[in-house]
Amino acid sequence: MNTPLTEYETVIGLEVHVQLKTKTKMFCNCRADYQYAPPNTLVCPVCLGMPGVLPVVNHRAVEQTIASGLALNCEISENTKFDRKNYPYPDLMKGFQISQFDMPIAKNGHLEIELNGDKRSIGIERVHLEEDVAKLQHVNKDGEESYSLVDVNRSGVALMEIVGDPDIRSPEEARQYLIVLRSILQCIEVTTGNMEEGSLRCDANISVRPKGSKHYTTRTEIKNMNSFRSVYDALVYEIKRQIDVVETGGRVIQETRGWVEDRGVTVSQRSKEQAHDYRYFPEPDIPPMTIDRGWIETILNQLPELPTEKRDRFVSQYHLSRYDAELLTMSKGMASFFEQTIQGTKPTCADHVQRSKSVANWLLGDLTSWLHQNSITIEDSKIKPSHIGELLDMLEDGILTTPLAKKVLAHSFANSISPLQLVREGGYELIGDTSVVLKAVKDAIVSNPKAASDYRLGKQTAAKFLVGQVMRITKGKADPVEVSALVEQELKVIYEV
Ligand code: ZN
Ligand code: MN
Repeated sequence: MNTPLTEYETVIGLEVHVQLKTKTKMFCNCRADYQYAPPNTLVCPVCLGMPGVLPVVNHRAVEQTIASGLALNCEISENTKFDRKNYPYPDLMKGFQISQFDMPIAKNGHLEIELNGDKRSIGIERVHLEEDVAKLQHVNKDGEESYSLVDVNRSGVALMEIVGDPDIRSPEEARQYLIVLRSILQCIEVTTGNMEEGSLRCDANISVRPKGSKHYTTRTEIKNMNSFRSVYDALVYEIKRQIDVVETGGRVIQETRGWVEDRGVTVSQRSKEQAHDYRYFPEPDIPPMTIDRGWIETILNQLPELPTEKRDRFVSQYHLSRYDAELLTMSKGMASFFEQTIQGTKPTCADHVQRSKSVANWLLGDLTSWLHQNSITIEDSKIKPSHIGELLDMLEDGILTTPLAKKVLAHSFANSISPLQLVREGGYELIGDTSVVLKAVKDAIVSNPKAASDYRLGKQTAAKFLVGQVMRITKGKADPVEVSALVEQELKVIYEV
């Protein structure tokens, strides 16, 4: 790539499709939990697209879309309707998708993101409701695509589309936008937000323009990104590609490009349709809908505390850093686990502010990494808030040291046994008998004469090394402060007396 002659600015707009958490599909009574169902078992004439059938709107899905609109600071339309979006594709059973064209349920909202202390407001153009399509499975034979299988189970599942304004200026902002958006939608419980399962899918419109320019240049649309990571990687790749095209005198053409994860590239798929290609027209089988103010009020009153509100409350109520509060409130499960742990704190606890900080540290540190390693959510784990509480009490009472507490906790996570019970059953208490520790110190010095002579030459690290040896001999059950003091004492006895 040549060095850019101009500085470029990136313009990104994200379209996010979200599968709603409804029991039944958008327009029929088929169950919507198709993820693990055998192919083509959750189908009926409506979602199979048979002629002569009538769609019936899923009330819950409309309610969840209104709730999402409200959580994203949108205006909720009093009058709304469904439209037919026509396009031929084998996964679309009817040859059209019931969607919303000019009267979406919600519009003109915004979402706040913060990156490196920089606050930005990203506009939300619209939030509308539509139906998901069937799933195609392309079967390859001898390296060539030979036939495709159709699973209609997903067809007709309630799908909400959130169209963001082209206000995003970097892949980092795009990722942050998605993280915040997902945490809001998970908080109000309208979706699982699982990207790998396709419950949350993101398409990105992207273009580059000379910095300072207000014009929109030709954009491409990228599809097929199924993780926050791949959205980020695909955008980074596409920015470079577009600048490269412009720098070498070419022109970016309007097209849809697919992200190929294992090759780390975007490839051209087809020229991008314009809205008129879809020949939208009002869905004749569904009467226009009126959303009355009373219904909106009720939904608004039922909205839970949103992640940003919760974050600000955590900062003021528990004196946490903004950063820790932000991380804790990203997931509803983690936030409530934190609060339950704090609520379970004994009145005898010496310092409640310090306790909040410790709980946050253990949750964001050891607990989070254990959950990651085991690919499990806090809700699905058997870890209880009281377990963290017990551990912190024992630390405060000096029954455990931090290294020992980490071991207890790992054991407790793995076997769902409470830390208190683990310590009571033995094997984890500190060695209380100083003579036992002293013997270990003497053994360590005798078997490491080099470290001892290094210490004599003034190497402080030698003492640290010996402390480590003693901790090893005592299997971590000695108090490191005591060990450190005893090591110094013994070395002085040897060399100075
Ligand atoms: Zn059906
Ligand atoms: Mn759509």
